[in-house]
Amino acid sequence: MRVLVIGRGGREHTLVWALQKSEKVGQIYCAPGNAGIAELAECVPIQENQFEQLSQFALDYAIDLVVVGPDDPLSEGIVDHFEERNIPVFGPRANAAIIEGSKVFTKNLLKKYNIPTAAYETFTEYEPAVSYLKTQQAPYVIKADGLAAGKGVIVAQTLEEAESALQEIMVHKVFGEAGNQVVIEEFLTGQEMSILAFVDGNTVRPMVPAQDHKPVYDGDKGPNTGGMGTYSPVPHIPQAVVDEAIRTILIPAAEAMVKEGRPFRGVLYAGLMLTPQGPKTIEFNARFGDPETQVVLSRLETDLLDIFLATVNGQLGQIDIQWSEEAAVCVILASEGYPGPYPKGVPITGLDEVQDSVVFHAGTAKKDGQYVTNGGRVLGVVGRGQDIAAARTKAYADADRIRFEGKHYRTDIAHKALVPYQA
Ligand code: ATP
Repeated sequence: MRVLVIGRGGREHTLVWALQKSEKVGQIYCAPGNAGIAELAECVPIQENQFEQLSQFALDYAIDLVVVGPDDPLSEGIVDHFEERNIPVFGPRANAAIIEGSKVFTKNLLKKYNIPTAAYETFTEYEPAVSYLKTQQAPYVIKADGLAAGKGVIVAQTLEEAESALQEIMVHKVFGEAGNQVVIEEFLTGQEMSILAFVDGNTVRPMVPAQDHKPVYDGDKGPNTGGMGTYSPVPHIPQAVVDEAIRTILIPAAEAMVKEGRPFRGVLYAGLMLTPQGPKTIEFNARFGDPETQVVLSRLETDLLDIFLATVNGQLGQIDIQWSEEAAVCVILASEGYPGPYPKGVPITGLDEVQDSVVFHAGTAKKDGQYVTNGGRVLGVVGRGQDIAAARTKAYADADRIRFEGKHYRTDIAHKALVPYQA
């Protein structure tokens, strides 16, 4: 089979890596891909938002399955575009991708179907939003409705900070139309956890859970990033809590989408807060997470192509999905300055010295035969081992073998797995 993967990050490198293990997969193409992906797939210079060019390529090259990585094209209807041309495609249609694309939609859905989430109000005007804020207590959680490249959520410690965030979003429109509506919600405490699931309408097949580390510095300090590292499993969190999240959040959410006439087909990603009252929904994403995918798919033992095809054909219920008992830890190596402005084109050395890990490229390019940096998050180093401690040791040993000027990474990825859980 010929597969086209759309995207250019560590997530897509992992998807290509997992797909090429399938005996049924022949050629893999990736649009536009990156320098690491180019070692496993043929990279095609078409951007993720060039739907016409992408579908023309799929027709010209007799692509059997298209797999969409990032959120923007999903919200913009890339799956609808391929389906209209009878090209098999893995991912939700725009009317289901809205579960990520509009926080107002999702909060209202969760409320309507009694799915656990933080209490909230939504606003379209600045003045009523500020008046409401004044009735609440710090910390304040303010969310722009639409996609804002992971920057649309502000947790403000003071009323002043919260008002200024509201002003930026609603008056100065720093996120454009994504800020036309705003959610103000209750601040939740607890550990965060991600559960991704393959979903084909009503059937939900959860993947193994993972934990991400969003802030840039050790100890969860500094500004949020796209994700500085992940690990799976989450051995310190009782299986009963994971099961409760699946039962009370993921399954009812998929059923709710069917009832709303928006059946979800693809990967539904639940960002959860494990509160003392039980798991609550922070957000849904309509696609694989990055860098959760790197650790979760590292543990997948079933043929990923079979799972994708079963999802597309509405036959997920008929497939048995197996996961390795091994642990996986992913450490992200970032460019100097990230998540702020960062240089590009910095030479990367030591990739050939890596011993025990799999290295997924996120932001790399090749210049005169040499790997160079080409993004904020550059590489994801995934160590695997019999437990988190063993996987972590391997990932960090290899993270040290890779060098580029200004390289930085968190040294405490998976530290939470090594201390007892308390809700
Ligand atoms: P992503 O880049 O994952 O799509 P996003 O911009 O959609 O992120 P959320 O995941 O909704 O944002 O929130 C970002 C972070 O803000 C969460 O990981 C969590 O740490 C914090 N957060 C969000 N909502 C709450 C809440 N109600 N209480 C406490 N913290 C919250």
